[in-house]
Amino acid sequence: MKKYDYLIVGAGLFGAVFAREAMNRGKTCLVVDKCDHIAGNIYTKEVEGIQVHVYGAHIFHTSNKTVWEYAQKYADFNHYINTPIANYKGELYNMPFNMHTFYQMWGVTTPEAARAKIEEQRAEITGEPQNLEEQAISLVGRDIYEKLVKGYTEKQWGRSCTELPAFIIKRLPVRYTFDNNYFNDPYQGIPKEGYTAMVERLLEGADIRLNTDYLENKAELDALADTVLYTGCIDEYYGYCYGELEYRSLRFESETLDMPNYQGVAVVNYNEREVPFTRLIEHKHFNFGTQEKTVITREYPATWEKGMRPYYPVNNEKNQALFARYQALAANEDKVIFGGRLGHYKYYDMDKVIEAALALVEEEL
Ligand SMILES: Cc1cc2nc3c(=O)[nH]c(=O)nc-3n(C[C@H](O)[C@H](O)[C@H](O)COP(=O)(O)OP(=O)(O)OC[C@H]3O[C@@H](n4cnc5c(N)ncnc54)[C@H](O)[C@@H]3O)c2cc1C
Repeated sequence: MKKYDYLIVGAGLFGAVFAREAMNRGKTCLVVDKCDHIAGNIYTKEVEGIQVHVYGAHIFHTSNKTVWEYAQKYADFNHYINTPIANYKGELYNMPFNMHTFYQMWGVTTPEAARAKIEEQRAEITGEPQNLEEQAISLVGRDIYEKLVKGYTEKQWGRSCTELPAFIIKRLPVRYTFDNNYFNDPYQGIPKEGYTAMVERLLEGADIRLNTDYLENKAELDALADTVLYTGCIDEYYGYCYGELEYRSLRFESETLDMPNYQGVAVVNYNEREVPFTRLIEHKHFNFGTQEKTVITREYPATWEKGMRPYYPVNNEKNQALFARYQALAANEDKVIFGGRLGHYKYYDMDKVIEAALALVEEEL
């Protein structure tokens, strides 16, 4: 007799939602994670009374009411709305591009004047854009490109915009309203007690083993459960037999400062190329904190190498073809299910993770 119905590899959001639903249906679950904490990429840790987003800023936003209501059951969400600021050589601009930005850029005060300015500047590109620079100018004009697109994009990709292909930027959304809300979704917020507490509640009732690498203890762990849900990297599961899937990585540098308020907002983008980091996060503002100290994190783009934490999948043709080969292997498994952002090699926002995990529950349970 196996001890558990499910062995869940990965205590991130996908594994936790699946575990919760399985337990709600009377199934038993063992959850293992190779890290020393639960919550995977949405892990938050309390420092000086502030919930620090350890693996990058996480804002929950969705247009799916069912998902929003689901998340509410496991966390008390605040009314945070993401309104990032862009800093270009000390000049501050509102994001996303909207009437505030256009006023700051050109002093224009009406949508008509803003539209005319952009149209005038877009006209510089006449033929088919040949690279990312031309594509961006053809969408928003030179001023916005030079100050708010160029340096940031070059840092992210580690290459000049004239060497990057045009298709990387398909759209650059422009709003002719005074609306600084970064997201269009009707539901948005951040768990007041942090994401870790939310995942803790989801996992209530499961047996949890941290610091446990499934692949290093596979035979022993497999023997404990009927079915395995694996939310780690799919290529790693198969010993990279067809080669490695690529990711873009990030590096974070955090500091605690002896002051109550460093930048007055949670997220500031640094848009010029000469500043090596892309974003500066001040965590307390995600939760309207009034603590005496503050914690800030600088986010640097980093080239991913095997062994580093995988952040963003690089879903280009080469990697998609490789992923399809791994998926074909996965389709032949009868005891193992693959899930989550790493198992599906897909960038999923948290709401999409919840959606996908609930869909799997419907299929499986
Ligand atoms: C920088 C960044 C910012 C983001 N910001 C947002 C945002 O603002 N809003 C939003 O909605 N979403 C955001 N996301 C997406 C969000 O992080 C994901 O949707 C979510 O974390 C995915 O959960 P998951 O369970 O699929 O994966 P993960 O959280 O990565 O969980 C997988 C778990 O599996 C474990 N694991 C892997 N291999 C093994 C093994 N062999 N043995 C044991 N354990 C293993 C890992 O340690 C990990 O804990 C962001 C993502 C990134 C990278």
